[in-house]
Amino acid sequence: MRVLITGAAGFLGSHLVERFLADGHDVIGVDNFLTGRPENIAPFLGNSRFTFLHHDVTQFLYVEGPLDGVLHFASPASPADYLRLPIQTLKVGSLGTHKTLGLAKAKGARYLLASTSEVYGDPQVHPQPETYWGHVNPVGLRGVYDEAKRFAEAMVMAYHRVHGLETRIVRIFNTYGPRMRLDDGRVVSNFIVQALRGEPLTVYGDGRQTRSFCYVDDLVEGIVRLFWSERVEPTNVGNPVEFTVLELAELVRAMTGSSVPIEFRPPAPDDPHVRRPDIEVARRVLGWEPRVSLREGLERTIPYFRRELERQRRVAG
Ligand code: NAD
Ligand code: UDP
Repeated sequence: MRVLITGAAGFLGSHLVERFLADGHDVIGVDNFLTGRPENIAPFLGNSRFTFLHHDVTQFLYVEGPLDGVLHFASPASPADYLRLPIQTLKVGSLGTHKTLGLAKAKGARYLLASTSEVYGDPQVHPQPETYWGHVNPVGLRGVYDEAKRFAEAMVMAYHRVHGLETRIVRIFNTYGPRMRLDDGRVVSNFIVQALRGEPLTVYGDGRQTRSFCYVDDLVEGIVRLFWSERVEPTNVGNPVEFTVLELAELVRAMTGSSVPIEFRPPAPDDPHVRRPDIEVARRVLGWEPRVSLREGLERTIPYFRRELERQRRVAG
Protein backbone atom coordinates (compact mmCIF):
# COMPACT_ATOMS: atom_id res chain seq x y z
CA MET A 1 0.00 0.00 0.00
CA ARG A 2 1.05 3.61 -0.58
CA VAL A 3 -0.34 6.22 1.82
CA LEU A 4 0.00 9.99 2.12
CA ILE A 5 0.03 11.51 5.61
CA THR A 6 -0.34 15.26 6.10
CA GLY A 7 1.13 16.82 9.24
CA ALA A 8 3.91 14.22 9.03
CA ALA A 9 6.45 16.41 10.86
CA GLY A 10 4.07 16.91 13.78
CA PHE A 11 3.68 14.91 16.95
CA LEU A 12 0.98 12.45 15.85
CA GLY A 13 1.79 12.52 12.13
CA SER A 14 5.37 11.37 12.75
CA HIS A 15 4.19 8.46 14.91
CA LEU A 16 1.76 7.42 12.18
CA VAL A 17 4.49 7.59 9.53
CA GLU A 18 6.63 5.35 11.72
CA ARG A 19 3.79 2.86 12.16
CA PHE A 20 2.83 2.67 8.47
CA LEU A 21 6.51 2.21 7.50
CA ALA A 22 6.89 -0.51 10.15
CA ASP A 23 3.81 -2.25 8.73
CA GLY A 24 5.57 -2.43 5.35
CA HIS A 25 3.81 0.37 3.48
CA ASP A 26 5.20 3.20 1.35
CA VAL A 27 4.59 6.60 2.94
CA ILE A 28 4.55 10.11 1.52
CA GLY A 29 4.75 12.65 4.36
CA VAL A 30 3.54 16.19 3.72
CA ASP A 31 4.18 19.17 6.01
CA ASN A 32 4.97 22.90 5.90
CA PHE A 33 6.55 22.97 9.41
CA LEU A 34 3.97 25.46 10.72
CA THR A 35 3.96 23.73 14.12
CA GLY A 36 6.01 20.63 13.29
CA ARG A 37 9.75 19.96 13.42
CA PRO A 38 12.26 18.54 10.93
CA GLU A 39 13.66 16.39 13.79
CA ASN A 40 10.40 14.43 13.85
CA ILE A 41 10.87 13.12 10.30
CA ALA A 42 14.69 12.95 10.31
CA PRO A 43 14.68 9.25 11.35
CA PHE A 44 12.68 8.28 8.23
CA LEU A 45 14.63 10.21 5.59
CA GLY A 46 17.05 7.31 5.03
CA ASN A 47 14.16 4.89 4.40
CA SER A 48 13.61 4.27 0.68
CA ARG A 49 9.89 3.73 1.30
CA PHE A 50 9.52 7.27 2.73
CA THR A 51 9.19 10.43 0.66
CA PHE A 52 8.83 13.90 2.11
CA LEU A 53 6.97 16.76 0.46
CA HIS A 54 7.44 20.27 1.89
CA HIS A 55 4.03 21.68 1.01
CA ASP A 56 1.17 23.75 2.43
CA VAL A 57 -1.90 21.52 2.08
CA THR A 58 -4.25 24.49 1.78
CA GLN A 59 -2.77 24.80 -1.74
CA PHE A 60 -3.41 22.44 -4.67
CA LEU A 61 -1.90 19.05 -3.85
CA TYR A 62 -0.95 16.33 -6.33
CA VAL A 63 1.42 13.38 -6.31
CA GLU A 64 2.38 11.08 -9.16
CA GLY A 65 1.44 7.41 -9.10
CA PRO A 66 -1.12 5.35 -7.24
CA LEU A 67 -2.30 6.15 -3.73
CA ASP A 68 -4.30 3.82 -1.46
CA GLY A 69 -4.78 6.07 1.54
CA VAL A 70 -4.79 9.73 2.56
CA LEU A 71 -4.61 10.56 6.28
CA HIS A 72 -5.16 14.25 7.01
CA PHE A 73 -3.38 15.19 10.26
CA ALA A 74 -2.12 18.66 9.34
CA SER A 75 -3.44 21.33 11.73
CA PRO A 76 -2.18 23.25 14.72
CA ALA A 77 -3.51 21.20 17.65
CA SER A 78 -2.31 22.86 20.83
CA PRO A 79 -4.60 25.68 22.02
CA ALA A 80 -1.50 27.91 22.37
CA ASP A 81 -0.73 27.25 18.68
CA TYR A 82 -4.19 27.72 17.24
CA LEU A 83 -4.87 30.82 19.32
CA ARG A 84 -1.79 32.45 17.74
CA LEU A 85 -2.50 30.95 14.28
CA PRO A 86 -6.28 31.33 13.93
CA ILE A 87 -6.47 31.86 10.17
CA GLN A 88 -3.99 29.09 9.30
CA THR A 89 -6.01 26.79 11.57
CA LEU A 90 -9.29 27.62 9.82
CA LYS A 91 -7.64 27.24 6.41
CA VAL A 92 -6.01 23.88 7.03
CA GLY A 93 -9.24 22.48 8.50
CA SER A 94 -11.36 23.75 5.60
CA LEU A 95 -9.24 24.27 2.46
CA GLY A 96 -6.71 21.63 3.52
CA THR A 97 -9.48 19.07 4.04
CA HIS A 98 -10.99 19.97 0.66
CA LYS A 99 -7.64 19.62 -1.17
CA THR A 100 -6.76 16.31 0.47
CA LEU A 101 -10.26 14.92 -0.19
CA GLY A 102 -9.88 15.96 -3.84
CA LEU A 103 -6.59 14.06 -4.02
CA ALA A 104 -8.14 10.96 -2.42
CA LYS A 105 -11.04 11.12 -4.89
CA ALA A 106 -8.70 11.48 -7.89
CA LYS A 107 -6.71 8.43 -6.74
CA GLY A 108 -9.62 6.33 -5.46
CA ALA A 109 -7.86 6.29 -2.08
CA ARG A 110 -9.37 5.70 1.35
CA TYR A 111 -9.46 8.90 3.45
CA LEU A 112 -9.06 9.36 7.20
CA LEU A 113 -9.63 12.70 8.94
CA ALA A 114 -7.99 13.54 12.27
CA SER A 115 -10.87 15.19 14.10
CA THR A 116 -11.01 16.05 17.77
CA SER A 117 -12.92 15.84 21.02
CA GLU A 118 -13.06 19.62 20.65
CA VAL A 119 -16.06 19.16 18.30
CA TYR A 120 -17.96 18.52 21.57
CA GLY A 121 -16.91 21.97 22.87
CA ASP A 122 -17.68 22.54 26.55
CA PRO A 123 -19.81 19.38 26.75
CA GLN A 124 -23.16 19.16 28.47
CA VAL A 125 -23.18 15.38 28.12
CA HIS A 126 -20.55 13.48 30.06
CA PRO A 127 -18.76 11.27 29.04
CA GLN A 128 -19.08 12.15 25.35
CA PRO A 129 -20.51 9.54 22.95
CA GLU A 130 -20.17 10.03 19.18
CA THR A 131 -23.91 10.75 18.97
CA TYR A 132 -23.52 13.97 21.00
CA TRP A 133 -23.60 17.06 18.75
CA GLY A 134 -21.57 19.26 21.03
CA HIS A 135 -21.69 22.69 22.64
CA VAL A 136 -19.34 24.99 20.74
CA ASN A 137 -19.04 28.77 20.73
CA PRO A 138 -18.41 29.50 17.03
CA VAL A 139 -17.20 33.06 17.65
CA GLY A 140 -15.11 32.36 20.75
CA LEU A 141 -11.30 32.24 20.54
CA ARG A 142 -11.29 28.42 20.35
CA GLY A 143 -13.97 28.50 17.64
CA VAL A 144 -11.29 28.67 14.95
CA TYR A 145 -10.20 25.12 15.76
CA ASP A 146 -13.53 23.62 16.80
CA GLU A 147 -15.46 24.95 13.81
CA ALA A 148 -12.69 24.08 11.34
CA LYS A 149 -12.88 20.47 12.53
CA ARG A 150 -16.68 20.46 12.48
CA PHE A 151 -16.59 21.80 8.91
CA ALA A 152 -13.95 19.17 8.03
CA GLU A 153 -16.18 16.37 9.34
CA ALA A 154 -19.12 17.71 7.30
CA MET A 155 -16.92 17.90 4.18
CA VAL A 156 -15.70 14.33 4.64
CA MET A 157 -19.28 13.06 4.97
CA ALA A 158 -20.29 14.99 1.83
CA TYR A 159 -17.45 13.39 -0.20
CA HIS A 160 -18.55 10.02 1.14
CA ARG A 161 -22.22 10.59 0.27
CA VAL A 162 -21.77 12.37 -3.06
CA HIS A 163 -18.65 10.70 -4.49
CA GLY A 164 -18.79 7.39 -2.65
CA LEU A 165 -15.33 7.98 -1.20
CA GLU A 166 -14.30 5.50 1.51
CA THR A 167 -13.92 7.75 4.54
CA ARG A 168 -13.08 7.47 8.25
CA ILE A 169 -13.26 10.13 10.98
CA VAL A 170 -11.35 9.73 14.23
CA ARG A 171 -12.24 12.01 17.14
CA ILE A 172 -8.99 12.18 19.08
CA PHE A 173 -8.92 13.00 22.80
CA ASN A 174 -5.90 14.60 24.56
CA THR A 175 -2.88 12.56 23.53
CA TYR A 176 0.71 12.86 24.77
CA GLY A 177 4.08 11.21 24.32
CA PRO A 178 7.56 11.58 22.85
CA ARG A 179 8.03 14.07 19.93
CA MET A 180 5.78 16.74 21.43
CA ARG A 181 7.43 20.16 21.23
CA LEU A 182 8.84 21.38 24.55
CA ASP A 183 7.08 24.70 24.01
CA ASP A 184 3.83 23.53 22.43
CA GLY A 185 1.89 24.82 25.42
CA ARG A 186 -0.22 21.72 26.08
CA VAL A 187 -0.70 20.71 29.67
CA VAL A 188 1.38 17.51 29.71
CA SER A 189 4.39 19.05 27.95
CA ASN A 190 4.16 22.25 30.01
CA PHE A 191 4.03 20.45 33.37
CA ILE A 192 6.86 18.03 32.57
CA VAL A 193 9.14 20.75 31.19
CA GLN A 194 8.35 23.07 34.10
CA ALA A 195 9.01 20.34 36.68
CA LEU A 196 12.32 19.34 35.03
CA ARG A 197 13.45 22.97 34.86
CA GLY A 198 12.50 23.54 38.50
CA GLU A 199 9.87 26.13 37.58
CA PRO A 200 6.36 26.40 39.07
CA LEU A 201 3.62 24.36 37.36
CA THR A 202 1.17 26.78 35.71
CA VAL A 203 -2.42 25.70 36.41
CA TYR A 204 -5.03 27.67 34.45
CA GLY A 205 -8.19 28.40 36.45
CA ASP A 206 -8.80 26.39 39.62
CA GLY A 207 -7.36 23.17 38.14
CA ARG A 208 -10.59 21.25 38.76
CA GLN A 209 -11.32 20.97 35.02
CA THR A 210 -10.79 17.45 33.73
CA ARG A 211 -9.11 15.77 30.77
CA SER A 212 -8.61 12.10 29.82
CA PHE A 213 -5.07 11.49 28.60
CA CYS A 214 -4.18 8.87 26.00
CA TYR A 215 -0.63 7.61 25.38
CA VAL A 216 0.41 8.02 21.75
CA ASP A 217 1.03 4.30 21.05
CA ASP A 218 -2.53 3.45 22.12
CA LEU A 219 -3.91 6.20 19.91
CA VAL A 220 -1.92 5.06 16.85
CA GLU A 221 -3.18 1.49 17.30
CA GLY A 222 -6.78 2.78 17.43
CA ILE A 223 -6.29 4.91 14.32
CA VAL A 224 -4.73 2.07 12.32
CA ARG A 225 -7.60 -0.26 13.29
CA LEU A 226 -10.15 2.40 12.31
CA PHE A 227 -8.41 3.01 8.99
CA TRP A 228 -8.67 -0.68 8.04
CA SER A 229 -12.24 -1.03 9.39
CA GLU A 230 -15.49 -0.35 7.55
CA ARG A 231 -16.71 2.30 10.01
CA VAL A 232 -17.70 5.56 8.29
CA GLU A 233 -19.27 7.45 11.20
CA PRO A 234 -17.00 9.43 13.56
CA THR A 235 -15.26 7.28 16.17
CA ASN A 236 -13.86 8.39 19.52
CA VAL A 237 -10.34 7.19 20.23
CA GLY A 238 -9.02 8.16 23.65
CA ASN A 239 -8.39 6.94 27.16
CA PRO A 240 -11.56 7.07 29.28
CA VAL A 241 -9.74 7.51 32.61
CA GLU A 242 -10.40 11.09 33.69
CA PHE A 243 -8.10 13.33 35.77
CA THR A 244 -8.35 16.88 37.03
CA VAL A 245 -5.55 19.19 35.92
CA LEU A 246 -4.49 19.42 39.58
CA GLU A 247 -4.24 15.62 39.79
CA LEU A 248 -2.03 15.66 36.70
CA ALA A 249 0.16 18.34 38.28
CA GLU A 250 0.57 16.23 41.42
CA LEU A 251 1.42 13.13 39.40
CA VAL A 252 4.04 14.95 37.30
CA ARG A 253 5.59 16.41 40.44
CA ALA A 254 5.78 13.00 42.09
CA MET A 255 7.13 11.24 39.00
CA THR A 256 9.83 13.83 38.27
CA GLY A 257 10.81 13.95 41.96
CA SER A 258 10.27 17.68 41.86
CA SER A 259 8.92 19.87 44.65
CA VAL A 260 8.15 22.96 42.55
CA PRO A 261 5.07 24.94 43.63
CA ILE A 262 1.81 25.19 41.71
CA GLU A 263 1.09 28.66 40.33
CA PHE A 264 -2.54 29.47 39.54
CA ARG A 265 -3.09 31.51 36.37
CA PRO A 266 -6.30 32.98 34.87
CA PRO A 267 -8.54 30.39 33.16
CA ALA A 268 -7.88 29.74 29.46
CA PRO A 269 -10.58 31.21 27.15
CA ASP A 270 -13.63 28.96 26.67
CA ASP A 271 -11.74 26.14 28.40
CA PRO A 272 -13.98 23.02 28.46
CA HIS A 273 -14.78 22.04 32.05
CA VAL A 274 -14.78 18.30 31.49
CA ARG A 275 -13.70 15.89 28.78
CA ARG A 276 -13.84 12.12 28.68
CA PRO A 277 -14.51 9.79 25.75
CA ASP A 278 -17.21 7.16 25.66
CA ILE A 279 -15.28 4.43 23.79
CA GLU A 280 -17.96 1.73 23.53
CA VAL A 281 -17.96 2.06 19.71
CA ALA A 282 -14.18 1.63 19.47
CA ARG A 283 -14.38 -1.38 21.81
CA ARG A 284 -17.19 -3.02 19.86
CA VAL A 285 -16.27 -2.17 16.26
CA LEU A 286 -12.47 -2.05 16.45
CA GLY A 287 -11.86 -4.37 19.40
CA TRP A 288 -9.71 -1.53 20.72
CA GLU A 289 -9.12 -0.06 24.13
CA PRO A 290 -6.13 1.73 25.61
CA ARG A 291 -3.50 -0.37 27.41
CA VAL A 292 -1.17 2.27 28.82
CA SER A 293 -2.12 4.03 32.06
CA LEU A 294 -1.27 7.69 32.61
CA ARG A 295 1.48 6.70 35.03
CA GLU A 296 3.05 4.25 32.53
CA GLY A 297 2.72 6.76 29.71
CA LEU A 298 4.42 9.47 31.76
CA GLU A 299 7.19 6.99 32.62
CA ARG A 300 7.84 6.65 28.89
CA THR A 301 7.45 10.37 28.15
CA ILE A 302 9.47 12.07 30.91
CA PRO A 303 12.82 10.60 29.70
CA TYR A 304 12.13 12.04 26.22
CA PHE A 305 11.67 15.53 27.69
CA ARG A 306 14.83 15.10 29.82
CA ARG A 307 16.82 14.24 26.68
CA GLU A 308 15.34 17.17 24.73
CA LEU A 309 16.10 19.65 27.51
CA GLU A 310 19.65 18.29 27.69
CA ARG A 311 20.02 18.64 23.91
CA GLN A 312 18.76 22.24 24.07
CA ARG A 313 21.25 23.03 26.84
CA ARG A 314 24.11 21.58 24.76
CA VAL A 315 23.05 23.57 21.67
CA ALA A 316 22.77 26.76 23.74
CA GLY A 317 26.36 26.24 24.69
P1 NAD B 1 1.20 19.08 15.68
O1 NAD B 1 1.09 20.56 15.73
O2 NAD B 1 2.36 18.44 16.38
O3 NAD B 1 1.22 18.57 14.18
C1 NAD B 1 0.50 19.18 13.15
C2 NAD B 1 1.37 19.22 11.92
O4 NAD B 1 0.62 19.81 10.83
C3 NAD B 1 2.62 20.06 12.09
O5 NAD B 1 3.77 19.34 11.71
C4 NAD B 1 2.38 21.27 11.17
O6 NAD B 1 3.58 21.82 10.66
C5 NAD B 1 1.49 20.65 10.09
N1 NAD B 1 0.69 21.64 9.36
C6 NAD B 1 -0.13 22.59 9.87
N2 NAD B 1 -0.70 23.30 8.87
C7 NAD B 1 -0.23 22.78 7.71
C8 NAD B 1 -0.44 23.08 6.35
N3 NAD B 1 -1.26 24.08 5.96
N4 NAD B 1 0.19 22.34 5.40
C9 NAD B 1 1.03 21.33 5.76
N5 NAD B 1 1.26 21.00 7.05
C10 NAD B 1 0.65 21.72 8.02
O7 NAD B 1 -0.16 18.50 16.26
P2 NAD B 1 -0.57 17.00 16.63
O8 NAD B 1 -0.81 16.91 18.08
O9 NAD B 1 0.36 16.04 15.98
O10 NAD B 1 -1.98 16.90 15.92
C11 NAD B 1 -2.14 16.27 14.66
C12 NAD B 1 -3.61 16.20 14.27
O11 NAD B 1 -4.34 15.49 15.26
C13 NAD B 1 -4.26 17.58 14.13
O12 NAD B 1 -5.13 17.55 13.03
C14 NAD B 1 -5.04 17.71 15.43
O13 NAD B 1 -6.16 18.53 15.27
C15 NAD B 1 -5.42 16.28 15.73
N6 NAD B 1 -5.64 16.09 17.18
C16 NAD B 1 -4.59 15.97 18.04
C17 NAD B 1 -4.82 15.81 19.40
C18 NAD B 1 -3.71 15.62 20.39
O14 NAD B 1 -4.00 15.46 21.58
N7 NAD B 1 -2.46 15.60 20.03
C19 NAD B 1 -6.15 15.79 19.88
C20 NAD B 1 -7.18 15.95 18.96
C21 NAD B 1 -6.92 16.08 17.62
N1 UDP C 1 -3.62 23.81 31.31
C1 UDP C 1 -3.05 24.25 32.50
N2 UDP C 1 -1.76 24.66 32.50
C2 UDP C 1 -0.99 24.67 31.38
C3 UDP C 1 -1.56 24.22 30.16
C4 UDP C 1 -2.88 23.82 30.16
O1 UDP C 1 -3.70 24.26 33.54
O2 UDP C 1 0.19 25.07 31.48
C5 UDP C 1 -5.00 23.33 31.33
C6 UDP C 1 -5.91 23.96 30.28
O3 UDP C 1 -6.49 25.14 30.77
C7 UDP C 1 -6.92 22.85 30.05
C8 UDP C 1 -6.12 21.57 30.27
O4 UDP C 1 -4.95 21.94 30.99
O5 UDP C 1 -7.93 22.89 31.04
C9 UDP C 1 -5.68 20.89 28.95
O6 UDP C 1 -5.07 21.88 28.15
P1 UDP C 1 -4.31 21.58 26.79
O7 UDP C 1 -3.75 22.89 26.31
O8 UDP C 1 -3.35 20.48 26.99
O9 UDP C 1 -5.40 21.04 25.76
P2 UDP C 1 -7.00 21.17 25.61
O10 UDP C 1 -7.54 19.95 26.22
O11 UDP C 1 -7.48 22.41 26.30
O12 UDP C 1 -7.19 21.21 24.14
